[in-house]
Amino acid sequence: MVVDAGRRAPAAGRGRDLVPEALRLVAFVCATWIATDVGYSSFRPEFGVSLIWPLSGVALLWAATGDRRTWPLDAVLLGAVSSAALVVAGSTSGQAAMGALQVVLQATLYQSVMVRWAPRLWGSGGTRPLRRTADLCVFLVAVTVASAVASGVRTAGLGLVPTSDLQDAALVLARNLSWMLAVGAVVLQLGPRLAPAGPRPALHPEARPPTTADRAWRGSLVELVALALVTAAVYAAVFTRQQPLPLTFLLTVPSLWAAMRLDPLRAAVHAAASGTFAIVMTLSGSGVFASMVDPRLGAALAQALLAVLVLKTLVISCVMSERDAAIRRAQVSEAASLGRAALLGAVLQNMNEGIVVAREDGEVLVRNAAGDAMLRSSVMLSTGPDRAAAEEARLFHPDGTVLDEAELPFRRALAGEEVLREDLVLRFGSSPEGRVIEVSASPVPETEDSPRAAVVNFRDVTTVREHEGDLAAFAGVVAHDLNNPLTVVSGWADSLADFFSLGDVSAEDGQAMTARIQGAAAHMRRFIDDLLGYTVARDRPLTPEDLDLSAVAEEVARLRRDGPTHPEIEIEPGIQVRADVVLVRQLLDNLVGNAVKYVAPQTRPRVTLACRPAGDMVELRLSDNGIGIPESMRQRVFETFVRVQTDGYGGTGLGLDICRRVVVRHGGEIRVEEGADGIGSTFVFTLPRAGSPLPGLAPVERQQVGVSPDPSA
Ligand code: ADP
Repeated sequence: MVVDAGRRAPAAGRGRDLVPEALRLVAFVCATWIATDVGYSSFRPEFGVSLIWPLSGVALLWAATGDRRTWPLDAVLLGAVSSAALVVAGSTSGQAAMGALQVVLQATLYQSVMVRWAPRLWGSGGTRPLRRTADLCVFLVAVTVASAVASGVRTAGLGLVPTSDLQDAALVLARNLSWMLAVGAVVLQLGPRLAPAGPRPALHPEARPPTTADRAWRGSLVELVALALVTAAVYAAVFTRQQPLPLTFLLTVPSLWAAMRLDPLRAAVHAAASGTFAIVMTLSGSGVFASMVDPRLGAALAQALLAVLVLKTLVISCVMSERDAAIRRAQVSEAASLGRAALLGAVLQNMNEGIVVAREDGEVLVRNAAGDAMLRSSVMLSTGPDRAAAEEARLFHPDGTVLDEAELPFRRALAGEEVLREDLVLRFGSSPEGRVIEVSASPVPETEDSPRAAVVNFRDVTTVREHEGDLAAFAGVVAHDLNNPLTVVSGWADSLADFFSLGDVSAEDGQAMTARIQGAAAHMRRFIDDLLGYTVARDRPLTPEDLDLSAVAEEVARLRRDGPTHPEIEIEPGIQVRADVVLVRQLLDNLVGNAVKYVAPQTRPRVTLACRPAGDMVELRLSDNGIGIPESMRQRVFETFVRVQTDGYGGTGLGLDICRRVVVRHGGEIRVEEGADGIGSTFVFTLPRAGSPLPGLAPVERQQVGVSPDPSA
């Protein structure tokens, strides 16, 4: 029975389906009548059989465009119309009944097999055309089974017609099979184009209608015309004359040409048309098959030719369609692979880390730009004299010993070891002091066609390691500088406690001891303040504004003037700069503070601040009458924790470092000179003048951690 799980549109939509449904029925009724009539016109009373039976093709068309809901009516109509047409044409009621039974049985069986085994195919519930070999196999099974059963029923006679002989049986099978094949081959290609959604909703939603990417005619018009001419010539030679020569083999030429070069639909039409021409010519008494003694045999052979032509075309079309689809898939995946490779290549080239993938024999498979730019990557693969000499580069352990070949991360990775972030020192011509390189290496999985290889990645960590060293030293100095005053505090506190427990402490001794404790605590406070100032000078986001530097300096000076030494501070009025007010206040506070602090005993400090323009900058000069700074120390005093005077002058060695950072962050410079007439010091520094754009900010260059001051003073 026809099995079709396809669902029709909801009831609301049926009204709209009625007109096309009615038109379809009318069209099929007409087609059935005509096909029956054509078939009966070839009826040979002497044999009691029609030589051709196009009705089996029409039945296939009817079944393929219907569904389970419409099939009972379709089947009844098909049987009724064909038997009526047969009776009208002059056949007996038994023959008419047998004709109807045959065709209904054949169509029903065909559709049952198709719906069951090829549900994604157009005509069986799906949307795709007959392009795959799997579908083709199902189609051939369906057509063969349906034709064989119908032919068997006809041969048996069932009391409706006389039982047939073997030649009758061969003819009935050939005619039923060939017309079904021919019509099916064309309809199952054409259907998806005319009604892409199929005659019924798709059983499988994932089934896609044919796309333009399916194989199509790509030849020239000239070739098409040539094919038509060759086809006409060959068929004329074989069928239109009483040909004494056995030229039937020539029919292969146009059919093969069409199958190879045309798209499946055109190829199927070509085969069906050629075969039909052969049948018509045979029936009209022309051609090789017409010369048979028994006309049934000639008709059977002509219809077998139609079947073979269609079959050959279908097989070649399906194979070529699948080949085209495979090529398309390969092209798509090749394009995707190339895209991925390009992306990975771009990522690799833009990485900051150097990457080298090389084989055991040293042949480099992959190497990125960073690797080349950072260092000569081949030195990572071998320490041998050839490469090392050429590169003038050698690898060393951090302790300074030379790496031998077996110790190379690359060689170790080849031996199966996973090398994780190890520091090595690379020395070469332009960097004799060496660069610290962090290297990792791992083996690349071995395959049959790629011998052993390893991937080495490396990065220059010289600056990072130096900063790490600086940080460790900085932490050490800070710990030391905080520890010293703490020792002072706890030592004097213990002594004080001892004195109190003995009860023989005088007020004077007690005051002296607490003064020491207060002094150490004050030093700690100062140190912590300076550390905070240091952090601010380094990390505070810069928010420059036009400001009156003289006013800021006056604020700083006012606080200093009230100090015990009553310093004399003179500031040039109206100095306008563009700077961050918080950082500038810190700068002036440190400079003025030092100028007031570093004076000889009993000397009243005298400080002046003057300025002069210097292009986009303003040059400021802060002079004092202090103890001065020896020439050898004038550069170093700006380094972290560097102090010159430790006796009698408290300090942390951070103040001038803070000043340098502030000035450099504003794009300026700072230095110290000997004071006028060889007295005191003059600090000269530049800042952007008001209204000017802040010049490109120079990074604060790294400074060596200096010598720790003695904080116990
Ligand atoms: P400190 O906390 O010791 O003052 P600074 O970084 O401010 O640290 O100064 C570093 C060293 O430079 C000081 O120890 C001092 O010896 C010297 N120095 C700074 N300013 C002056 C100055 N105006 N006159 C003389 N020496 C100075």
